[in-house]
Amino acid sequence: MNALTRLDRTINLSDDEQMLLESVRALSRDLIAPNAQQIDRSGVFPQDNVDAINALGLNAMFIPEAYGGAPMSYTAYLECVRELSRACASTGVIWATNFHAIKPLIDFGTEAQKQRLLPVMVDGGLASLTITEPSAGSDATGMRTSFTPDGDDIVVDGSKIFITNGAHADLYLVFGKWSTIEDSKASISALIVEKGTPGLSVVREEDKMGLRASSTAALSFESCRVPRANLLGAPGDGLRILLASLNKSRPSVAAHALGIARAAFEDAVAYINERRQSGRRIVEFQGIQFMLADMATDLAMCERWLWHVAALVDADAADFGIEASMLKLRASDLAMRITTDAVQLFGGYGYIRDYRVERLMRDAKITQIWEGTNQVHRQLIGRSFMRK
Ligand SMILES: Cc1cc2nc3c(=O)[nH]c(=O)nc-3n(C[C@H](O)[C@H](O)[C@H](O)COP(=O)(O)OP(=O)(O)OC[C@H]3O[C@@H](n4cnc5c(N)ncnc54)[C@H](O)[C@@H]3O)c2cc1C
Repeated sequence: MNALTRLDRTINLSDDEQMLLESVRALSRDLIAPNAQQIDRSGVFPQDNVDAINALGLNAMFIPEAYGGAPMSYTAYLECVRELSRACASTGVIWATNFHAIKPLIDFGTEAQKQRLLPVMVDGGLASLTITEPSAGSDATGMRTSFTPDGDDIVVDGSKIFITNGAHADLYLVFGKWSTIEDSKASISALIVEKGTPGLSVVREEDKMGLRASSTAALSFESCRVPRANLLGAPGDGLRILLASLNKSRPSVAAHALGIARAAFEDAVAYINERRQSGRRIVEFQGIQFMLADMATDLAMCERWLWHVAALVDADAADFGIEASMLKLRASDLAMRITTDAVQLFGGYGYIRDYRVERLMRDAKITQIWEGTNQVHRQLIGRSFMRK
């Protein structure tokens, strides 16, 4: 057993959680990892993988019991994200996005909203977190989508871009601006739009560098009428909801990145223990051992921080936004570095598509960009030490 495997053994999971994780590992090994290369090439949404995840009832782990769920810890959720992503980063993010989009409904929704909408997810629904617009990325407060109250309805107009699960979601958590509130930030509001609502359409799906089998869609809302009963909180509560939800999705994005990093590290270790040059295994060269030492040590430190932040969330800590930013920043930079080093350790073969490390390097890149780019996270972390 190596140091990383020993670290895995320290993850704080109950017996039920361990059992679920064993099922997720078996599914990852038997179906999701073997499918990964083919869906990366075809770019086809992996419905078989999603069906198999739903056969395990995995969404239920983040839905309260009162609405049909079987809740487990945030630590267990993150470990599921990491395991799925280690097998296939596209599949990992498809499933993780369900949590990112639905957690705000659980935390801020009314009883009636939860009774009506959460069973959709327990039954294997997909969800999208719908924030980004063509002219509002890092500064989401620049969004232009409008929510206009009209009797018992809200009329949604605008366009969103880069929406994960966008072409397949049953529920969309959409952020926009309440038309009768003048102040730009104070007008941000959040509502749930259900699949098939007239006026909601998928404009296109993007052809991407990595995560090629996950759906990334541009959406249009044209006079899209949504019942006012689907509004989360009050008009203007959107920014508060957005910030709270990002704090819980950023560790999940880190778990996704660390799954990719771990896969690349393990592939590299296996390869350099076999491949020989100059009469020796590649792993026997000291220069290579130094590379390996840096990769393994940084991975261990970052994984430990993942479980630290997970424990903060499980303990209902009130203030962990900077810890979550540090985690997202370091995990995603590390995923990019370890996947790049893994390609290097494979030599020319690393550049060939037959080997998984080529895909892992492409998959890793997005983790530095989404859920706040790493430039933005560096700013947030640095700013937190400024004296008032
Ligand atoms: C595959 C994929 C999936 C996605 N999934 C979703 C999703 O499900 N839901 C969703 O809402 N969005 C999603 N996004 C959008 C993603 O979150 C944004 O792309 C990201 O927030 C960056 O916004 P932008 O692309 O407009 O870049 P910009 O904000 O235009 O940034 C361009 C560059 O400028 C830098 N920059 C910007 N502002 C600052 C600043 N203040 N200080 C320093 N540097 C700065 C950035 O770091 C970046 O390097 C997804 C994107 C992709 C590619």
